[in-house]
Amino acid sequence: MNLLGPASRQAVTDAQDQTGETPFLEVLWSWCGAVAEERGLTPPKKNVTAMTARLTAHLTWVAEQPWVVDFSEEIGGLVYAVQKITMTAPRKQLLKGVTCLGCGMSSLVRYFPGDYAAECLNCPSQKYSDRDYELLVQGQARGLESVNP
Ligand SMILES: [Zn+2]
Repeated sequence: MNLLGPASRQAVTDAQDQTGETPFLEVLWSWCGAVAEERGLTPPKKNVTAMTARLTAHLTWVAEQPWVVDFSEEIGGLVYAVQKITMTAPRKQLLKGVTCLGCGMSSLVRYFPGDYAAECLNCPSQKYSDRDYELLVQGQARGLESVNP
């Protein structure tokens, strides 16, 4: 593929004759194929809505498969690419003065929009709800008071 020749009249939807990233539809299609084959299902229609609905419906099962890391990386890559293209990446705010319970570092952030009040940049398992984050802030503030009366 090069940028000098005439553009394709149709959307490029297959992985053939491509350099760089695999097209979105082909990534989704290959994972839908894996799910359909291993679960004995007919493949969904080859469009984004049908394929993402299929993958979402089987997400719990997917999470138990040995290839879940590859799945996560490839789907995460699609999400990242979409966020770059559409400039819709969540805004990140560093939460100062509070340390993560997992690693003890000042690496807690809040994403806008986001699902949690705080998440650690180092520890994927450290996610705090509004209540948990308030308790963490209060607990660490009390700890500081006892050190510096
Ligand atoms: Zn941490």
